[in-house]
Amino acid sequence: MKKVVKFGGSSLASAEQFKKVGAIIKSDESRVYVVPSAPGKRFSDDTKVTDMLLHVYETAKAGNDFTEEVKAIKARYDEIITGLEIKDFSLDKDFEEITKQLEDLTNPDPMCTLDYVASRGEFLNGKIMAAYLGFEFIDAAEVIFFNAEGNLNSYKTEKVLGERLSKAQHAVVPGFYGLGKDGKVKTFSRGGSDVTGSIVAQASRADVYENWTDVSGFLVADPRIVPDPKPIKYITYRELRELSYMGASVLHEDAIFPVRHCGIPINIRNTNAPEDAGTWIVESTCQKQDYVVTGIAGKKDFCTIFITKAMMNSEIGFGRKVLQAFEENDISFEHMPSGIDTMTIVVHADEFVHKEQRVISAIHRLAEPDSVEIESGLALIAVVGRGMKSASGTAGKLFSALAKEGINIKMIDQGSSELNIIIGVKNSDFDTAIKAIYNTFITDK
Ligand code: ADP
Ligand code: ASP
Ligand code: MG
Repeated sequence: MKKVVKFGGSSLASAEQFKKVGAIIKSDESRVYVVPSAPGKRFSDDTKVTDMLLHVYETAKAGNDFTEEVKAIKARYDEIITGLEIKDFSLDKDFEEITKQLEDLTNPDPMCTLDYVASRGEFLNGKIMAAYLGFEFIDAAEVIFFNAEGNLNSYKTEKVLGERLSKAQHAVVPGFYGLGKDGKVKTFSRGGSDVTGSIVAQASRADVYENWTDVSGFLVADPRIVPDPKPIKYITYRELRELSYMGASVLHEDAIFPVRHCGIPINIRNTNAPEDAGTWIVESTCQKQDYVVTGIAGKKDFCTIFITKAMMNSEIGFGRKVLQAFEENDISFEHMPSGIDTMTIVVHADEFVHKEQRVISAIHRLAEPDSVEIESGLALIAVVGRGMKSASGTAGKLFSALAKEGINIKMIDQGSSELNIIIGVKNSDFDTAIKAIYNTFITDK
């Protein structure tokens, strides 16, 4: 049995948290490869080290004095090193190097990049973790590679990382970054240590990828909206993808791809409650579900473009012409519910608002509709569950739950896979709608 364990920022924010992590790793000898994030928040108003690094980069780039900011970052690490009483270990040399790189930023053509600075959060935490555990440290820039388009080069990564890990009994590989095609450090998008963990699990052909965070698994709804939601025991990769895409931010939305490829399950666990079973993310399962709905997630701030034209349904090519107006303006659409003489396109507000008039005129030019109306302030909520396919009355229950709260449903879209129902409500109804759906399907089941 071989496990890859990834620990998120809050699990590594202080020496106290590091000790919990150390105990978790040492309690199971199959936990052989460790992927750490940068130190996260110690309390709710705290700043994540990654954010501190992004800020110091801006300060240095603007030519301002950054000494105090670097000191504050170093203090975060020194506090951990001291608290863990690691002997003969210091990051002084690393901070000298980082300072040198930041100084380079005022040169006309600096070598130092934003990604390099941001990646130091994980790099330094990885060094501490390796020294603390007595594991080998493997710099992710030597084993994880991106291609010229900036995407993961999975072929080269799997080969180089796989070979390197086959020679290391225990190792720490820092999360969040690798090496770009240009030979410089490159990071994934925010939260990307989850992706590194998945890559390490794939390359080492691990049996399990454990992802340790600050909640006892993937919860049915966002705990910041629903108080104390139930954890999900089993969720499929496909259900998870729907929920993470719609804003359930527990796991980076790209983190499932490397492990999914070779059928390695992900187990989400809580560093602060290691006895909890957490959530299993699997390809498929016949485990009985407690509820028809697996999870609820949503996002605010969408716009709708409502188009009418008499006899639209019989006009061949009408939909294509409308969508061309969005394509010409480089806007992707989220949903497209339609009727006989009407069609609605749902888009992200931040992609659309500054281009709205251009899109409207393109629709008129290309599709000659009778009218085009736009509305903003729409929130989308996804109700996801593999059990919905075989349960009748799910939609009815959902709609009556919202009606009881006086919430007007502005849009409905059921995926043809019957895995999810997406509803649109006003931004201001978002939290109430999620709570009402949770109560209907989970609390009052
Ligand atoms: P880490 O730093 O360990 O990577 P994240 O902050 O990225 O952790 O993800 C965990 C957080 O995700 C939780 O603390 C919680 O606030 C939030 N979250 C949002 N939706 C959900 C959900 N459905 N289930 C669990 N946590 C959720
Ligand atoms: N430290 C990075 C971030 O804050 C990556 C991660 O935590 O996964 O986004
Ligand atoms: Mg995360």
